[in-house]
Amino acid sequence: MSQRTNHYNLRVHHVCDMVRDFGQELTLGTHPYGHSYSKIFHRIFTKDSQIRFIIENDDVCQNCCKLIKNQCIDSIHHRKDFFSKQEFNNYLDQRIIDILEIDIMKEYSIQEFIPYLETYCENINTIYHGNEEENTKKRLQNVLRGINRIKTLFLQP
Ligand code: SF4
Repeated sequence: MSQRTNHYNLRVHHVCDMVRDFGQELTLGTHPYGHSYSKIFHRIFTKDSQIRFIIENDDVCQNCCKLIKNQCIDSIHHRKDFFSKQEFNNYLDQRIIDILEIDIMKEYSIQEFIPYLETYCENINTIYHGNEEENTKKRLQNVLRGINRIKTLFLQP
């Protein structure tokens, strides 16, 4: 019997955050905002999940209290150049898509996405230029751990 495939429309930085959290072996509960990050995080690392990358509010944003009329009204405080989370997310996702040369018309399994994650790691300082360098260094370590965990997972029969 064939397994059901789960299709997700996701912002690429959300997927990279999930790989980072996967590298830390986090078990995530429901976020106070009520969004769907943890639900997708616990489903995405399987052969039956397919991801299409979008630059707009995504499946993670479902049920989020900060999503009003399809706009993220949240703010960020870790950079000098952006205040609106929506504007920063759009900027960041476009940057990652361009650097990784992601085809937004295609769907990817998390396994197919590994080479792109490796390019993400090689360019992480450029991608997050403007963030605190120490945080980017920690992110890199955890994403690398996450990539190794995904590889191990998919080597298993
Ligand atoms: S609506 Fe904003 S705060 Fe909520 S999950 Fe989406 S990006 Fe995050």
